[in-house]
Amino acid sequence: MITINEHYLKLQASYLFSDIAKRVDTYQENNPDKDIIRLGIGDVTRALPEACIKAMQAGVAEMAEDSSFRGYGPEQGYDFLREAIAKHDFIDQGAEVSADEIFVSDGAKCDTGNIQELFTTDIKVALPDPVYPVYLDTNVMAGRTGSFADGRYQGITYLDCVKENNFVPDLPKEPVDLIYLCFPNNPTGTTATKDELKTWVDYAHRNKALILFDAAYEAFIRNPDLPKSIFEIEGAREVAIEFRSFSKNAGFTGTRCAYTVVPKECVAYDSKGNKQHIHPLWNRRHCTKFNGVSYPIQKAAAAAYSPEGKKQIRELTDYYLRNAHHIKEAITALGFSSVGGDDSPYIWIDGQGRDSWEFFDLLLDKTGVVCTPGAGFGKCGQGYIRLSAFNSYENVVQAMDRIKTELG
Ligand code: PLP
Repeated sequence: MITINEHYLKLQASYLFSDIAKRVDTYQENNPDKDIIRLGIGDVTRALPEACIKAMQAGVAEMAEDSSFRGYGPEQGYDFLREAIAKHDFIDQGAEVSADEIFVSDGAKCDTGNIQELFTTDIKVALPDPVYPVYLDTNVMAGRTGSFADGRYQGITYLDCVKENNFVPDLPKEPVDLIYLCFPNNPTGTTATKDELKTWVDYAHRNKALILFDAAYEAFIRNPDLPKSIFEIEGAREVAIEFRSFSKNAGFTGTRCAYTVVPKECVAYDSKGNKQHIHPLWNRRHCTKFNGVSYPIQKAAAAAYSPEGKKQIRELTDYYLRNAHHIKEAITALGFSSVGGDDSPYIWIDGQGRDSWEFFDLLLDKTGVVCTPGAGFGKCGQGYIRLSAFNSYENVVQAMDRIKTELG
C-alpha cells in the first residue's frame, strides 16, 4: 500500500493570493470603469537589462552551432558565472567567498526550501513572523512541526518581528538549531545592521546553530553602513549559508537564476557531536537532484556583472526605489506609520487598529489599489499591510494620489 507523507496534510492551504484575486474580481465586476492598480505583488514588472538580453541571445546563438553547442553543464554552475559572483558580490565588497563555494541554481525559493533536507527532523527551527512562507512550509513538509493551532505550528520557534523590536527579531529565549533570517526583509522591508547580524552570528557559535541568510533583496540597499552579505560579519563563515537571486536585482523572476553560498568552514554536527562540513553534502545533494541552469541564462546572469550590466541594474533598482520612496512619503504624510521602503522595495504599513483584511478592503473599495494583507505572512502580520514598489512610477503616483484623496 502506498502511504502518504502525512506532514503534508498539516499544511495550511494558502488562501492569501486566491482570496486577494477573488476580492479584486468582485470589485472589478461592481466597478467596471475603475482601473485597478496592483501594489500587492512581489514580482518585478520591468524588462530585463539590455546587457543580460544581449548575453542571453549570444548564448542561444552558440547553442545553434555544433561547434559551440553545450549539453549538460556543471551542476554547480559554469566557472565564468561562479567567478564573476565571487569577485563582484563578495571579494570586491570585502567579504571572503571563493568561486567554488557558490552553487548556481534556478531560484532562491528552491534553495531556501531544499536546504533543510541536510538536517535531521528533530532540530529546533526558528523563523521570523511575519515570514516568507517557503521557510515554514518546507519544514512542515519535512515533519519538523506539530499541527497547526491558533495561527501557528507547534514545535516552531517564531521570532516575532513587531513594532517593539523595530521588526528585527530578538534572540530566542530557548536554544534553537536552525535560524532563518531575511534582510532586506520580505514582507516588512526592514534591514539589519552589522551589529544586529553579529549578535546572531555569535548566538550561532554559542549554540552550535546554523543561520540561513536570505539576501534576495540586497540590491536595494543604498545605505553604505548596512551589510549586504552575512559574510561581512566576522565569524559567519562557520555558521551561515547565504541565498541570493537574480530575480529582484536583474528582473530574472521569469528567467530563473540564483545561487547559494556554502563556505567550506560551515559545519553541522553528527549524532556523536562530531563536526561535519556542509559544503560537500550540499554539493552531493545539488549534483544528485539538480542538473544546472541553462547556458544562455548563466551567460545572461554573468552579464549582470559587466560595467553596462551593473549600470542597468542600478537604474532598474533605483526605479523601484523611487516608487518605494514615493509610497513611503505619501503614507507618512497621511499619518500612517510604516517601516521599509528605504533600502527595500516593500513598505510595511500599520493599519492603525484595523484588521489586515479590513484595511485591504478599505483601500480596494475606496481607491482600487491592491495591497497584500500582512496577516497572510503570519500572526504578527495582523493589523498590517504590505505595499510593493514593483509597478510603473506613473501607477504608483496615481495610486498614492487616490489614497491621499480618499483617506486624507
Ligand atoms: N526569498 C525571498 C525573501 C523572496 O521574497 C523571494 C521571492 O519573492 C525569493 C526568495 C524567491 O526568489 P527566486 O525568484 O530566486 O526563487
